[in-house]
Amino acid sequence: MQPKLQSTGEAPILTRAMAVHAWAYCPRLFYLEEVEEIRVADERVFEGRELHQRLEDEEVDDLHTFTLESESWGLKGKLDACRHRDGHWIVVEHKKGRSCKGIKTVDAWPSDRLQGAAYAVLLEEHIEQEVTEVRIRYHADHKSVCVQVDEGMKEELRQALQSMDLLRASGQRPAVTAQANRCIHCSLAPVCLPEEERKEEDEDWEPLRLFPQHHERITLHVVGHGTHLARSSEQLVVRPLEGPEEAFPVEQIEQVVIHGYAQASTQAIQLCMARDIGIHWMGSGGRYFGGSAVGSGGVQRRIRQFEALRDSAFRLNRARELVQAKLRMQLGFLLRATRKKDRHALKIDPLLLEIRLSLATLSSCRTSEEIRGNEGLAGRAYFGCLDCLLLSDLSEALRFNGRNRRPPRDPVNALLSFGYQLLYRDMVAAILSVGLEPSFGLLHTPRSAAYPLALDLMELFRVPLVDMPVVASLNRRQWDPTKHFRKIGPAVFLTEEGREQAINVLEARKAETWRHPLLGYSLSYHRLMELEVRLLEKTWMGHPGLFARWSLR
Ligand code: SF4
Repeated sequence: MQPKLQSTGEAPILTRAMAVHAWAYCPRLFYLEEVEEIRVADERVFEGRELHQRLEDEEVDDLHTFTLESESWGLKGKLDACRHRDGHWIVVEHKKGRSCKGIKTVDAWPSDRLQGAAYAVLLEEHIEQEVTEVRIRYHADHKSVCVQVDEGMKEELRQALQSMDLLRASGQRPAVTAQANRCIHCSLAPVCLPEEERKEEDEDWEPLRLFPQHHERITLHVVGHGTHLARSSEQLVVRPLEGPEEAFPVEQIEQVVIHGYAQASTQAIQLCMARDIGIHWMGSGGRYFGGSAVGSGGVQRRIRQFEALRDSAFRLNRARELVQAKLRMQLGFLLRATRKKDRHALKIDPLLLEIRLSLATLSSCRTSEEIRGNEGLAGRAYFGCLDCLLLSDLSEALRFNGRNRRPPRDPVNALLSFGYQLLYRDMVAAILSVGLEPSFGLLHTPRSAAYPLALDLMELFRVPLVDMPVVASLNRRQWDPTKHFRKIGPAVFLTEEGREQAINVLEARKAETWRHPLLGYSLSYHRLMELEVRLLEKTWMGHPGLFARWSLR
């Protein structure tokens, strides 16, 4: 009998057969994918899709890739294939990996067996004929394993489905698996951060780096008056008014930033939206106007965030950790940059003392106003020292005489303001990509159009990602006061050339790798931004010990 193929339509909640596999592999994986709706398509996932496409093209089986549903089982699934042999239908499941090898035996992995059983009961119900066999083909070692689907197997599946329903209803993310080696092959490891949780629970644990070191895709900045961003097939093309155009395959791009009066076509914007590429607009003065919200928007994660941040004591502790980290970094940078200088002659000893005192006072602050007060005092002292870090023979126009903003009134402040706006944009993007709500913050209150959480978290990165590269580039004499800056009334802004150079300096810094002192693995600063957002989320998931714990060495 030919099975009648059934298309997926409106239906009660049915568990995907793939989710059965995920649950058997690790209940937390099931929860992250099915409840929190986090799916990561990594290399392994793409390889799996390719394999299935190839097999479909080869047509070695009798039926290919069709979807079945069963309300009685509460299941749905897309079968790879099935074969008709000796009057019986056999489910065929293709896996790109290896089989489970015993000393002299070859077997299917338990998660593959259960998934295969799910397909068998779906097919059985559909054709109204017993399906007792699943063949699992492991392509990496060219082994095939036959799995018998008997009553015992069906009962196992029934119980597993009940456990999944309970887990779904619990609203509780399960603990990381005790079988740490499973995490190495798990596509959700960069989101789940199992090694980081293990490290937090056991300080002797030596975490493996499952979190990617770099961003595989780039941020495309479109700069220049009249520069046009267009679409050409599956590419984004940057067309300046003068000079050659440049094309970028869409899969290489993570975000697009349109600066000043550069333009983007509707087709280019649509392509970005369709591919989950964030697109952002910044004014010619460097102000961040806004952008598209890309990323997983799991409502459950935002509810958890909202509930955690409604607790003022919890919020105060996180805000304290954040500001402590910022002040440690300011102090660390000043000490490192003046290591070979006579601090007494520079007259910065009292300012360094001011930062130390603010840092020490933070632990006794009882309100967010007190924390902000200390942060402000330390900030004034920090910026009071900054000019001492610049070469003594630098042009007078490039000296730093204190922080000013809105508008910046000298080139160094113009550079800092531009850098902080880029950093803010990056922080918004990181928060959205993790699936948190940038409007619920720790310390900053929603007084302006800016997102409080992005303003909070960028405090961790102002020194390493803006102040340090700006000071270093000034000392490398990369800036020309007339070529790179323009004055409009009291305000000083970067010229187009200046903006391009600033983007290069700051993006290069973001791509630099750095060894996390607690986790022991290296990653780029760009990745570190995302990691800190994820570690912040862990603070309200029972793992508060790793957020904002790093500092400059
Ligand atoms: S990384 Fe490990 S603990 Fe996390 S979902 Fe995957 S297998 Fe489970």
